[in-house]
Amino acid sequence: MELNYFALIIITLVLGFGAQAMIKHTYRKWDKTPSSSGISGAQAARRMLDANGLSNVSITQVAGELSDHYDPRTNVVSLSASVYDSHSVSAIAVACHECGHAVQTAQGYVPGKVRSAIVPVVSFASNIWMLALILGIIMSILGLIYLAIALFAAVLIFQLVTLPVEFNASRRALAFIQQSGWLTAGENSGAASVLRAAALTYVAAALASVLQLIYLLGMARR
Ligand SMILES: [Zn+2]
Repeated sequence: MELNYFALIIITLVLGFGAQAMIKHTYRKWDKTPSSSGISGAQAARRMLDANGLSNVSITQVAGELSDHYDPRTNVVSLSASVYDSHSVSAIAVACHECGHAVQTAQGYVPGKVRSAIVPVVSFASNIWMLALILGIIMSILGLIYLAIALFAAVLIFQLVTLPVEFNASRRALAFIQQSGWLTAGENSGAASVLRAAALTYVAAALASVLQLIYLLGMARR
């Protein structure tokens, strides 16, 4: 399959911006809906962690929008200000999603382990692949171009492994939210759509990389 470079750029931009717009729109929509239970993001996170025997995992507040994450090295769930103190459906969904990652680590969830294990390789590959590609083109060394493509493929593998990890964290979050009875049926489906929109950003990124890999392979063949 031949892929035009211009088309590749356009598709990548549309995918990236489309997914970003989607998550922002869905997040804001359900951020305006306070949960009927009145529980905050931080409180929901604490309860989910404790319910899974993770009283050793701490919760902290970080700056930025949608900057929420869990760090397995420090065992800390970091929630953005708009999630930490908020009582909205969006805040509870995101807070519990991050706790889903903490539960994965505690239970030795395999795709999560694989993802963490390949992080060092991938961060090296993502820094160096473009340089290898440019040098390969300038010096017209095909081996170097293929090395660049192999490095890029490592980045893509990382993005693909990220998908089950993200879906699984959301599944754990939604199961816990539902079981807790914090949300009404309508609010539950709102929480699900927030997490689905968040997952879409990872799918879009992986899809853009697949297209880029196809383009790079076509280029190498030429
Ligand atoms: Zn996640």
